[in-house]
Amino acid sequence: MRLVLVGPPGAGKGTQAQFLASHYSIPHISTGDIFRANLKDGTALGIQAKGFMDRGELVPDSVTNEMVRDRLTKDDLSNGFLLDGFPRNVAQAEVLRAILAERKTPLSAVLELAVDTAEIILRLSGRRVCRNCGKVWHVEFDKPADPTKCDICQGELYQREDDKEEVITRRLEVYQEQTAPIIAFYRTEGLLITISATGSVSDITERAITALSRVQ
Ligand code: AMP
Repeated sequence: MRLVLVGPPGAGKGTQAQFLASHYSIPHISTGDIFRANLKDGTALGIQAKGFMDRGELVPDSVTNEMVRDRLTKDDLSNGFLLDGFPRNVAQAEVLRAILAERKTPLSAVLELAVDTAEIILRLSGRRVCRNCGKVWHVEFDKPADPTKCDICQGELYQREDDKEEVITRRLEVYQEQTAPIIAFYRTEGLLITISATGSVSDITERAITALSRVQ
């Protein structure tokens, strides 16, 4: 199963990706997570990406494409992979198609998580992340007992710089302008499957697995 997950910020791509990756026994490759890990470790890649990420802009394709190309050469992809957060524009989609064509391992499907803008703003502005274990909480929908600490590991919770309201607005604009066109691209390729991403996390996972069962 070689999958791309696409949808606006706050659609729940990261959450669904974890469940789907475990269901299909494939690695979850999140470009946002790779950038954040690099940022945390203070690598050159992290330093290059930081300004773009803090502003809610896309990191330049030259940087992102090389990072993905490199990740796709690792030897843990025999069952496939789930890409989350890549591609984010048509140029990246074309690069991905070329990388996979070289290896004769084309995508199986592109799953679009559809959710409306008002819901996205609610979800993202209330999102808090554990600095220690990375678990994602929500100030209203998934509260820890102590609003400042992770229930699981007692780590400190923080708000991602790009989950602040002014940055969310910019990320949504960037999504509409740059990422939404890949939906038409993949529809034309006959790869697009769209599901609604509202409701409980488990309902959405079930919807996704049902929709994807037509692919295998
Ligand atoms: P995410 O966690 O997927 O929302 O990504 C967080 C941030 O990382 C984005 O707002 C971008 O700044 C950067 N990023 C992640 N994936 C990409 C990509 N495919 N192309 C460019 N920038 C990206």
